[in-house]
Amino acid sequence: MRKVLVLEDEDNIRSFVVLNLTRGGYETIEAASGEEALEKLKQHPDIRLALLDVMLPGIDGFEVCRRIRASNNKVGIIMLTARSQEMDKVTGLMTGADDYVTKPFSPAELTARVDALSRRLGGDEEPVVDNGEISQPPFLLNTRNRTLSKNGKRIKLTQVEYSVMKLFMDNPGKALSREEILEFVWGRDYYGEVKIVDVNIRRLRLKVEDDPTNPAYITTVWGFGYKWGF
Ligand code: CA
Repeated sequence: MRKVLVLEDEDNIRSFVVLNLTRGGYETIEAASGEEALEKLKQHPDIRLALLDVMLPGIDGFEVCRRIRASNNKVGIIMLTARSQEMDKVTGLMTGADDYVTKPFSPAELTARVDALSRRLGGDEEPVVDNGEISQPPFLLNTRNRTLSKNGKRIKLTQVEYSVMKLFMDNPGKALSREEILEFVWGRDYYGEVKIVDVNIRRLRLKVEDDPTNPAYITTVWGFGYKWGF
């Protein structure tokens, strides 16, 4: 899993960024201040990419960037700059950032920039993610063309079902709440009922289970949610 540090003092923007990166297959580490960000980087030396907001209550994003670069040239850095501060781009790049994204940005734009930098950095530690496959026999999930096969036989999935499977296979053996699944797959701005999760799980079981009435892979965690049983 590719780890991304998200430094942003505004909770709603940080959550927005985290949600979209999670959907994009990244693991996120959050920080609300520059000081916290530097601490988190020390705790997680495997962070590969950092998103740094500029305007912060303590030391600003440029200073964080400078301090990171003083000892670390490997981590990719993207500055989150405000439109009104045109100079931010230049200053950010001068302090050692690799790229910048101007606020307000769309989820697609942000993910595209992160993907691009991540590709440029290359060399993922986990070959499972790197070659675009998650193998949990008898299942094989191909994250490049978003397909699932069981014993080498393709299982036809909708995009939503694929997203649910991806979440499961990224978290084998972990009990996931229905709300968590809803948020990951449908997004935080989804206004429908959590019941849509159950409906999709039911459909998914028909496709992946040997015996859908007695599920062995997608098990129910009573009063909570579901678990990919490995
Ligand atoms: Ca800010």
